[in-house]
This record gives sequence, C-alpha cells and structure tokens, in this order.
Amino acid sequence: MRASATDRVRPEIREISAYHVRDSAGLIKLDAMENPHPWPAGMEDDWLESLRGVPLNRYPDPSARSLKNCLRKRLDLADDFEILLGNGSDELIQIIQLCAAGRDGVIVAPQPSFVMYEMTARFVGAKFVGVPLAADFTLNEEAMLDAVREYRPSVVFLAYPNNPTGNLFDRSAIERIVNEAEGVVVIDEAYHAFADASFADQIGRTDNLVIVRTLSKLGLAGLRLGYMIGPALLLDEFDKVRMPYNIGALTQRTAEFVLDRLEVFEDQAAQIVAERERVFGVLEEMNGIEPYASQTNFILFRSTRLDAPVVFERLVEHGILIKGFGTSGSSLDQCLRVSIGTRAENEAFTGALASILSD
Ligand code: PMP
Repeated sequence: MRASATDRVRPEIREISAYHVRDSAGLIKLDAMENPHPWPAGMEDDWLESLRGVPLNRYPDPSARSLKNCLRKRLDLADDFEILLGNGSDELIQIIQLCAAGRDGVIVAPQPSFVMYEMTARFVGAKFVGVPLAADFTLNEEAMLDAVREYRPSVVFLAYPNNPTGNLFDRSAIERIVNEAEGVVVIDEAYHAFADASFADQIGRTDNLVIVRTLSKLGLAGLRLGYMIGPALLLDEFDKVRMPYNIGALTQRTAEFVLDRLEVFEDQAAQIVAERERVFGVLEEMNGIEPYASQTNFILFRSTRLDAPVVFERLVEHGILIKGFGTSGSSLDQCLRVSIGTRAENEAFTGALASILSD
C-alpha cells in the first residue's frame, strides 16, 4: 500500500501543535500587544490616496530601496550598516536561523521569552537551548555565559524588553554575552517604542550584533513589516536566503506613508505607556494579583489566590480576552498577560478582574 504523505513530514514538526490564536469575535481584545488607537481624522483618506497608482500587475521592488532609504533617514543610519526587511519580524527570525543555524546549529535564548525563537529552531532543524531566567525574571548572566561557552551557539536571541515578562535585561550582562559569543547575537527590540533603552548605538562595535524591530506593536500589526539593522557584511549574507519579493508593493508604499507620520504613532505609544503605568498601579493594589513592572505595551501578572485559567475564563465571560499560559510547573505558573488598550478597555479589564476576585 502507498505510504501516507504525512508520514514523510519530519517527526519534530509532527509532534508540535500549530500556533493557536483564540477567536476574539465580540471580545475586548487585550491578548496580542496591538495598538488600540484609531488614526487621526483624514489620515485614512490620505493613505488610500497614497496607494493610487501602485502597479499591482508588477512585482514589487525586490530590495525595497525607497522604503529602506526612508527608514535609513528616520534611523540616522551610518553607511556601513545595512537594513533587511521582513514580513513581520517573525520572518527575520526565520531568515537568521535559516542562514546561521540550520541543521546541527544551536540557538540559545532565555526562557521564558518569545516562543518563535524555539519554534523556528525546530522548523530549521536546529537545537534549541533555553536558559531559565531567575525567579524574578532577570537574566541569569552566568547561566547564559555558560551556555554560550558550552554550546557555541550559531545565534543568541535576547528580547529587549522581553516578552512575556515585560522587563529589560541588564545592559552590561548583554554586552558581556555579545563579547563572549562567536555567533550572531540578535537584540529583538519589538517593544522599543515603549522602552527607554536600545542597543542601536552598539551596532558595529562587534561584527555579530544585529537589532530586529517591528512596526507591529507601534500600531501596524496588520501591515507585517519588520526590519533588521546590522553590519553590512552579515546582513548581505542573510539577504541571500530572503525570498526576493517578501515585502509587497502595498506594504512598501504604506510603510513610507506611515514613516512620514511617525509622530502620530509615537504619540499613541506615549499614551499607551501612561496607561501602562496607571493599570500597573491599579493591579498592584489588588489583593490576589502581583504585577511585574513593564517597559512594554503589556503587563504580566501572577494570580496568587485564584487559579489563573479560572481568571482567564471568567474574564472571557466578562467579554475580555487576555493571554494565559498553559505552563503549570514552569516559571509562568499562574501568570497571565494583558495588553494595554484604550483607557475604557483597560477600565473594563480592571473592573472585571476586581469583580472576579471579590466573588
Ligand atoms: N519579537 C517579539 C519579542 C515579539 O513579542 C513579537 C510578537 N509578539 C515578535 C518579535 C514578532 O512580531 P512581528 O512578527 O509582528 O513583527
């Protein structure tokens, strides 16, 4: 009998379950770190106008020169640094691993951190080594350095600030990891817009440091645009495995439109930061909730009285979707993560949580 085609799928792929996104229809959506704020009046019309004449019968500019120049100006980037664009920073994480790790390569990242570092390692057939964070979610520098020495990883990922914990790791510890590592060190600044710190000024000090950012959290999650900045020599290698037309023509044009109006999104990010601080204060006052200080547009908190999955489901009954972690026994046990929404959405969340806790 003919063998089933699924038998030919690699076992390490068959054993994982697909990335599950819960249906949010009818719920206040505070699960995915999206910017909740609408655009100012008239901006959508201007945007639609800017799309006129984009030639959809033609392939997009494969190297997105115009958009890269626009980013280069915005970032004030030196000539010997390169920019690489991805369909979201997810794609950049994949490109780096395809290029630098592949089969037999090792990827090192703290744990818990952004799950796609580990998932992508599986996809490319690399070995993933997760180094547990300390109990307070700070970086365990010695353990990271030990892992770097023992496994000599092709790539080290450090989310700065980290998802899902929301904190910034110690800067000098990261610098020591960058100096010790022979492989690529990726500083993932997905939450840069909400943090007071960046490694952008360190690019070029060593040949192995790259920074990855995204427009998603700033307010353009639907656009799917991530960018990497780093030494030209390294990024030219990464560019070889990038699919030639990975950034569509509508995305290229839209991103330029948005970069010309960046202050709109920076203002919204400032509002989100102010709300984050307010919500943190409210959560801190709640009996049975322990929030972790955040430099992002979300807050991780631990439920110390009620079981976290129960809190999650009761919030859904109140019409609010946040993020739970099915990880009992891990350091995220009893933790939940809420993205910062509009003031009204945040009040709906804290109000519902207070009422669940008082039942
Ligand atoms: N890096 C981190 C740390 C993230 O949390 C996320 C999204 N949750 C990403 C990268 C991916 O973002 P995107 O693909 O939307 O650019």
